[in-house]
Amino acid sequence: MSQMLPLRPVDRDGTFEARRFQVFTARNMDKIPGLDRMPEDERFAMRVVANVLPFRVNEYVINELIDWEKAPDDPIYQLTIPQRGMLAPALFDRMADVLRRDASREEINRVAWEIRNELNPHPAGQMKLNVPQHDGEKLEGMQHKYNETVLFFPSQGQVCHSYCTFCFRWAQFVGDKDLQFASNEAERLHAYLRDHREVSDLLLTGGDPMVMKTRKLEEYLDPLLAADLEHVQTVRLGTKALTFWPYRFVTDKDADDLLRLFERLVNSGRHVALMAHYNHPQELKTPIAEEAIRRIRDTGVEIRAQGPLLAHINDSSEAWAELWRKQVRLGIIPYYMFVERDTGARHYFEVPLARAWEIYRDAMKQVSGLGRTARGPSMSAGPGKVEVQGITEVQGEKVFVLRFIQGRNPDWVQRPFFAKFDPNATWLDQLQPAFGEDKFFFQDEYDAMLASVESD
Ligand code: SF4
Repeated sequence: MSQMLPLRPVDRDGTFEARRFQVFTARNMDKIPGLDRMPEDERFAMRVVANVLPFRVNEYVINELIDWEKAPDDPIYQLTIPQRGMLAPALFDRMADVLRRDASREEINRVAWEIRNELNPHPAGQMKLNVPQHDGEKLEGMQHKYNETVLFFPSQGQVCHSYCTFCFRWAQFVGDKDLQFASNEAERLHAYLRDHREVSDLLLTGGDPMVMKTRKLEEYLDPLLAADLEHVQTVRLGTKALTFWPYRFVTDKDADDLLRLFERLVNSGRHVALMAHYNHPQELKTPIAEEAIRRIRDTGVEIRAQGPLLAHINDSSEAWAELWRKQVRLGIIPYYMFVERDTGARHYFEVPLARAWEIYRDAMKQVSGLGRTARGPSMSAGPGKVEVQGITEVQGEKVFVLRFIQGRNPDWVQRPFFAKFDPNATWLDQLQPAFGEDKFFFQDEYDAMLASVESD
């Protein structure tokens, strides 16, 4: 039996007292301290948007992360508080109208659903293409998009400590069971993994699996230590708890048990990575956020940072350079800069690909080699993860140089391909092939994959 690493004392210098987790939602948003200083029409706009898109923010974010002097422009305010521009004017007016009329809850819900259905709740073929089968049954809480990686959505982890305004998984949080991927069947996950020896990576995601009690997490993760699951070598945990609730790793009642679980996995020889979602350096400004990072790293777990590039929040090279520098200083590995996905309030947050690439490049220029590990800007599109590698001119034609970081067919990976330059394009499906080609090299194969699922 391997020896446990000693945990650092919770209260190392007496500054980290337990904090009560207190959350605000659309129901009690009027009670958010600080909001009363915002103009009435801004608060009404919040209510309108919060009746369509998920809204939830906790007291730590409100009191420690948002700089109220700078609201509404403060990046963490934009990251958590609904904004009028998140709904197109016609959609906004539809909901504003029913709220002004004091319509019944039933009517509000009906209008909310009409609007949601116009917001592409499931981008990148998530509902159809990614759900695997086991013994002839669809495994709804799972996605198996790339050969070596299985994504699992534990049903108890389908919320977050706060919600991001731009969340691409927003449809999971608005209460329609049809739209959820959740499954509480740990045994089925393990059975599937036993039968799929090509899977080396398990990604537990949500929502945020770190909202789960440690006891629940153990049910999912401890069985991985058994010999018949030895091929699952890497365990990734997608989370934004390091931003929204770092107390989870420091003072919460089962924080130490969680770190012990991390140690067990690490000591078994697994690579355990916390895939930490960060958008702005302001998320790292509190001592508790640093302490959480330090305690996690003490267990041998790696922390890799990823997050989308977003208008109103982090669309400057300075923000990214500072974020990456801070992460490196704290021992976090910068991993991805994503492009905002084609769902939800995307029109409010999207940044043209050309601008995204400029920001990425300018940020890279400002950091040392250890900060240059972030890939991007990367689109998690239907056919795979596609990175904008650059903008250049080939024989007089201005083009985007693109490549697959991940592809539905592994053979697509790392193959460069070219699209006509378009200064306004924000997503792969808006790009046209360059050099007079009528389609991209993967198109026929991808269409065939879609067709085969449609005919299932
Ligand atoms: S942490 Fe992730 S899943 Fe949760 S609201 Fe933010 S983007 Fe969505």
